[in-house]
Amino acid sequence: MAPNKVQDGVVVSVEYVLKLEDGEIVEETTAGDPLVYLHGANNIIPGLEDALTGMALDERKHVVVQPEDAYGDYDPDDIEVVERSMFGADTELEVDDLVTLEDEDGEEYEAIVADVTGNEVTLDFNHPLAGETLHFDLKIVGLREATPDELSHGHPHLPGHVH
Ligand code: ZN
Repeated sequence: MAPNKVQDGVVVSVEYVLKLEDGEIVEETTAGDPLVYLHGANNIIPGLEDALTGMALDERKHVVVQPEDAYGDYDPDDIEVVERSMFGADTELEVDDLVTLEDEDGEEYEAIVADVTGNEVTLDFNHPLAGETLHFDLKIVGLREATPDELSHGHPHLPGHVH
């Protein structure tokens, strides 16, 4: 039997619209292509997971998530100035571009280009939604029990999912 509400161990399909405080839409699922996640496995931000707990199929909810329960406060120290030459002469860099950098261990980091002056590029490593209060319009469109595999992996296995 399918679970009748959102709880730990349930694979949840949810449609949502995410707006900022000023009403700007930053993310939106399209019809038939919801966000699918495993509840209770930290797949999504804590404030959203809390708000979804206990919701039923077809239920709708508007929820406001503060930065500390979302992507954290904006950290003005999380900014770095690097040499323009790091990016290669052919790479066009403009303010607000998202760039991916790799450290010596092959770990990837995303940053936003905050400034380009002469031979220097200022990179902002804050999450693009850091410091933002998030407004979600939610609708639950699917609930099912997670499989043992999904529970042990901590994420849902969707068509096309490869390990
Ligand atoms: Zn997996």
